[in-house]
Amino acid sequence: MDISVVVPLYNEAESLPELHAWIKRVMQQHGFTYEVIFVNDGSTDTSWQVIERLALENPEVKGIKFRRNYGKSPALYCGFARAQSEVVITMDADLQDSPDEIPELRRMIVEDGYDLVSGYKKKRYDPLSKTIPTKLFNATARAVSGIKNLHDFNCGLKAYRREVVKNIEVYGEMHRYIPYLAKNAGFKRIGEKVVQHQARKYGVTKFGLNRFVNGYLDLITLWFLSKF
Ligand code: UDP
Ligand code: MG
Repeated sequence: MDISVVVPLYNEAESLPELHAWIKRVMQQHGFTYEVIFVNDGSTDTSWQVIERLALENPEVKGIKFRRNYGKSPALYCGFARAQSEVVITMDADLQDSPDEIPELRRMIVEDGYDLVSGYKKKRYDPLSKTIPTKLFNATARAVSGIKNLHDFNCGLKAYRREVVKNIEVYGEMHRYIPYLAKNAGFKRIGEKVVQHQARKYGVTKFGLNRFVNGYLDLITLWFLSKF
């Protein structure tokens, strides 16, 4: 199998059929064999029914279901454990990340030799209340982690060499620092690709302003972990 796509989701029922169809179209156009692992993080809407239906109709679709909402990091962690391919792609479920980016992200892993390629939403379609703190946050993350070439640590769209996802532990809110986790695990070839970003089409964001407080606290934790 060429590619595993891992999609963490919380109450994204409306987006899922469209996202699945889009991923499928891209994979078929490029002749990739693949799996899509939807990790339902305790949704209270009909997301799980949608995933069950998609899985019934499409053998490449797999579902993981959490009993309650554990968070994006545990969702990614379980998706990573299940992923089988040499290249693993993560993307958000809300159609803000474009599946059209998958082929080039994969190429950068397979041909350019990157361990991890992070998406960079250079032009963002998010409110200012989010984009400004995000800039600050990324500057801090660059300084603390020493990964100077990344602009967008928390981009949901990323590509990994299989070895990376099997050797990092993503817990708490650590999904914001996966490149740093990878670096601490000894993976040095970390790159970036500018990716298309879209405004959320359905539903609402699942993270409030407290994301930045939690984000900084986790960064401090990680810094300690990497030193001692
Ligand atoms: N998500 C999740 N568990 C949560 C919160 C979010 O799996 O507790 C998923 C969400 O459904 C989406 C992705 O994580 O697929 C990114 O969340 P969101 O789009 O709300 O974040 P934003 O784009 O506003 O940063
Ligand atoms: Mg989003």
